[in-house]
Amino acid sequence: METSVTTEKTETVIEKISIYSLQLQELKDWLKEHGEKAFRAEQIFDWLYKKRIADFSEMSNLSKNLREILEEDFTLTTLKTLVKQESADGTIKFLFELHDGFSIETVLMRHDYGNSVCVTTQVGCRIGCTFCASTLGGLKRNLAAGEIVAQVVKVQQALDETEERVSSIVIMGIGEPFENYDNMLSFLKIINHEKGLNIGARHITVSTSGIIPRIYQFADENMQINFAISLHAPNTEIRSRLMPINRAYKLPDLLEAVRYYINKTGRRVSFEYGLFGGVNDQVEHAQELARLIKGIKCHVNLIPVNYVPERDYVRTPREQIFKFEKTLKDAGVNVTIRREQGSDIDAACGQLRAKERKEETR
Ligand code: SF4
Repeated sequence: METSVTTEKTETVIEKISIYSLQLQELKDWLKEHGEKAFRAEQIFDWLYKKRIADFSEMSNLSKNLREILEEDFTLTTLKTLVKQESADGTIKFLFELHDGFSIETVLMRHDYGNSVCVTTQVGCRIGCTFCASTLGGLKRNLAAGEIVAQVVKVQQALDETEERVSSIVIMGIGEPFENYDNMLSFLKIINHEKGLNIGARHITVSTSGIIPRIYQFADENMQINFAISLHAPNTEIRSRLMPINRAYKLPDLLEAVRYYINKTGRRVSFEYGLFGGVNDQVEHAQELARLIKGIKCHVNLIPVNYVPERDYVRTPREQIFKFEKTLKDAGVNVTIRREQGSDIDAACGQLRAKERKEETR
């Protein structure tokens, strides 16, 4: 494992909006208001997302005046790399500092099918899942759309050195994306836009802990992106223990919302199921899970959970993981075990931030 701490400078300007928060149309409107031609918006997007420049002054096909007013109204770089941890398997975990001093994590994962980036949507989280380091210290604030986009741009800039490309996005980092719904949606539209990062909807996955009203809203957006639900339990009792949100948004209602989503979009969903030693990983739990999700067009993603130092959960033994998987398969459930990545770095969500920023996560 390699860890490097950089001394890279970041802007201290806070009041300005990140230019990465703007949709192409919003940029066109801004240009018109400033007496500029709308087609300049596409040139600016090209500098931001294709050439990935680090300073407005590099936008050489724009007038000096336009570059100056862009600089007056917007920020370009708002993320400072505090820590970059590199795993032997190629996973890279970034700890970024925001303009107001808070920190967030972003992870680059390597797969056979390409490079995937896991982005953060909030500084901390108020959902309180009992296995998660990201919720320690609660929620500090939502991220702006541009701060989520900037994470992908930063990782892409790192990949530019080896001429590689970010090919997929998972919104599974720190925070509950559906609690920062509008900014998350704005982020999705920007990275999906052909003039933006042009990442195909089918290469984007959003995951929720189960904010039911937002699931209905999201279903109605009818975006063709992948949708995952953190289930983690085969029944109400265990789910409430692992995820206190289950007391507010109950399991039967959650599954009803999921059925609505599937009917509306025609897409299957993924259920994320973290295996916690002795808690939810027994054969009878697998049988109960199979009964619970029977008839739902879905896929179950089993996640062998690492030991989280701040919490009491232990890892499920290897043979038990396979027994659990086999029980689901025998019951006709579509299931895979998530490949472990970055096991030699602070891989679980929020661990790096919790270690490096103790005051923020207390
Ligand atoms: S698992 Fe996700 S929703 Fe739950 S506390 Fe952690 S960041 Fe929040």
